[in-house]
Amino acid sequence: MRSDVGNICEVLDYFKSMGFDLVPFRPMKLIGKAERTAETKIALAPVRDKAAALQALREEIGDCTRCPLSGGRTNIVFGEGNPDARIMFIGEAPGREEDIQARPFVGDAGQLLTKLIDKMGEKTGFGRKDVYIANIVKCRPPQNRDPHEDESRTCSQFLQRQVEIISPEIIVALGRISTFFLSGRSGPITSFSITRERGKFFEFKAGEKTIPVMPTFHPAYLLRNPKDKWLTWEDAQAVLRKLEEKAQ
Ligand code: URA
Repeated sequence: MRSDVGNICEVLDYFKSMGFDLVPFRPMKLIGKAERTAETKIALAPVRDKAAALQALREEIGDCTRCPLSGGRTNIVFGEGNPDARIMFIGEAPGREEDIQARPFVGDAGQLLTKLIDKMGEKTGFGRKDVYIANIVKCRPPQNRDPHEDESRTCSQFLQRQVEIISPEIIVALGRISTFFLSGRSGPITSFSITRERGKFFEFKAGEKTIPVMPTFHPAYLLRNPKDKWLTWEDAQAVLRKLEEKAQ
């Protein structure tokens, strides 16, 4: 009996990691004919073995050629961090250094992001290894151009599932591209301003869960405009306050 339950849990975890929030459930021992054909949906519980589910997702992505960005990449940058992270940081796309190392945010902008995370964790002791970091697209766009809408749409299905598996309490959207997609916008991005949107939580639907997202400036923007760092620090403090509220 115990192993049957274990097997069922594994199957349900598998469905969840495949991006299903509900699975059709056909009761086996019902008596009436109508009931025998009835199909009920059961909601899936959060994934228990998140590391394994992330690994399965990475394997499903494989040596991806689903969009043109695959042609110019060296490595897929899947994302990294603690699968049980309470905070997830989502950027735009890997740059040169990330493409080489197959790790997100490891160049100059990444160093600034790491500093921000360390500063956020000063009081409670969390650092980069305790959060999860990913991007809207997993391959480097040529000359670091913005990812195109179709590239972002194709790739963000995997990000969606990454978020569902990790199920963080809060997401920080780094920059305009990330904020644009996570807030469910479409159409021309040219008129979208992160300066107007930053600092205001919005909600992201991940399966059954609604996750607050704090949009803020991209670290690469802050390297060019250090005078705006204090605004990102204000956003980070709002994130910490929200986490504290959630812990109570
Ligand atoms: N910029 C991003 O948006 N993501 C990275 O991983 C690196 C730089």
